[in-house]
Amino acid sequence: MCGIVGILSEQPHSIRSNTLHMLKRLEYRGYDSVGVATLEGDIQKEAGQVDPFVATITDYETCGSIAHTRWATHGGVSRVNSHPHSDATGEFMIVHNGIIENADELQAMVPGCRPLSETDSEVIAAFFRHRVVEDGLSMEEAIQDFFRVTEGTYAVLLMRKGDERMYALKHNSPLALARVGGLAGGAFVLASDISAFSDETGEAYFFDDMTYAIVAPDAFEVFGADGAAHAMVPHSFEWSSEEATLEEHPHFMIKEILEQPQTALRLLESFRTIQSEPLTAFAAHMKRARRIVFLSCGTSYHASLIGAFMLNQLNYEAHTVIASEFENFILVDASTFVIAISQSGETMDVILPLKQIIDDCAGLGAIVNVPHSTIQRLSTVSLDLLAGQEICVASTKAFTNQVIALMGLAERLGFDIDLSVIPGKISQTLEDIDPICKHLADELSDRNEIYVLGRGAAYPMAREIALKFKEIDYIHAEGMMAGELKHGTLALIEDGTPVICLIPGSDRSMLSSQREVEARGARTIVVSNTGEGEVNVPPSGNAEFAIYACLFGHLLSYYIGVARDLPIDKPRNLAKSVTVG
Ligand code: GLU
Repeated sequence: MCGIVGILSEQPHSIRSNTLHMLKRLEYRGYDSVGVATLEGDIQKEAGQVDPFVATITDYETCGSIAHTRWATHGGVSRVNSHPHSDATGEFMIVHNGIIENADELQAMVPGCRPLSETDSEVIAAFFRHRVVEDGLSMEEAIQDFFRVTEGTYAVLLMRKGDERMYALKHNSPLALARVGGLAGGAFVLASDISAFSDETGEAYFFDDMTYAIVAPDAFEVFGADGAAHAMVPHSFEWSSEEATLEEHPHFMIKEILEQPQTALRLLESFRTIQSEPLTAFAAHMKRARRIVFLSCGTSYHASLIGAFMLNQLNYEAHTVIASEFENFILVDASTFVIAISQSGETMDVILPLKQIIDDCAGLGAIVNVPHSTIQRLSTVSLDLLAGQEICVASTKAFTNQVIALMGLAERLGFDIDLSVIPGKISQTLEDIDPICKHLADELSDRNEIYVLGRGAAYPMAREIALKFKEIDYIHAEGMMAGELKHGTLALIEDGTPVICLIPGSDRSMLSSQREVEARGARTIVVSNTGEGEVNVPPSGNAEFAIYACLFGHLLSYYIGVARDLPIDKPRNLAKSVTVG
């Protein structure tokens, strides 16, 4: 994960107003620590988040700077483990996103190398100093050597004191480059993703794996790992930056929950306009395939379960499994169409299996929120979620649009659903259930466990709602198939245990599960679409019910987080864009 930014400008820029301003826009990628270095060799870094850091640093004007916001993979959250790192003399400075798997081997190649930190990243700076200063290689030769000997995932920005260029290396971690005309007489910005500079430009270059760039203030060149020139073309993108401000809301989570009627409408309108052709092409690939498999994790996996549910109803053979276990549980052949779902489009647990199977399957459909992301660029056909930037680590509006995108595809394949009513019903649900969610949050905020039960299309929502209680509220929650209860979990139900039952229509099996837990003293909370629950959402079919039931999970987990006074938008230990495997 982590976010990296580098600026190389014709006139000096400010590390506070320019570099760290851009880094702040990447903070959702990781927020364990923050640091910045200048071309002149000043490194400032600290554990913690960007805003308090910015308030304490010395501002410098410089023509070259690199900065990093970390999600720790190797070594604890501390100042010494924060990036940027330098070699022992301070001449070579780096920021790194990813994991250097053979960091020990790299260290062994640098005689006398004694890293100060526990990270896998610091050795990169020592490696370059050794290769260039001791072994006499040029920077380019040293970079090519780095590609040869290094295993793992990396987007690295490298500066050398006294060298006015910046070096950018990429393999398996995302990296983009943009020209920002209005910054310090013109500047190149390198960043993990377009969010860093989307308020400055609508055009960017996206690095391919095993490529590097040498960037001067007014020009850049790109090469393959062997040093051969490599073409990189600019792409324009539309990525609104208005989502990055809280406006009148106390947290991004509630702002993003309340945006859902508009974001759902935007996606549905695109199905009639700009995304009509991609939607048809996507559905045609699914129709031709003998088998459809989903590749996703976390919240996106829950969306994929709904996708598999709808496709199975239509007699398509559809499977889904959490991406990190994909290779162990899913078979892919030349008649299998793969659908990857990822909010960021950069999820490493999805990208790694994807690269293994992409040449052997019937094609890849991508459903992503971030345009030009790696997964979209690998795909045969793709749908944009158009949810706008999501800042809260826990996904709400992007998740709902994932489900709607899958419904759009299912509808094209014959699934009976009226998509046009969804935005209005989302709006109505949010309004109707807000008071009961606040009331239930008061009741549940001191609980340590919550169970959520569902069947069919509501089962994925039971899991999704439980995930929200875990990530936002730090409450142990289990979302499960109601039928599984009596095969073990029922032993955990005692007097007063909260059990949320998602019951569309008058699902008899769900009603039985409700009775079974109530007989053991559970405090049940029924979410219904027939007006018979403690929480009532609009009348709907079963798949649609899943969307409205999930809104209950969004609001309830949010209000519990408020009651527990938790850092709702940035839960501990997490980051939004999971770009390490
Ligand atoms: N592996 C590096 C570290 O733990 C970088 C992590 C990241 O990508 O944020 O410092």
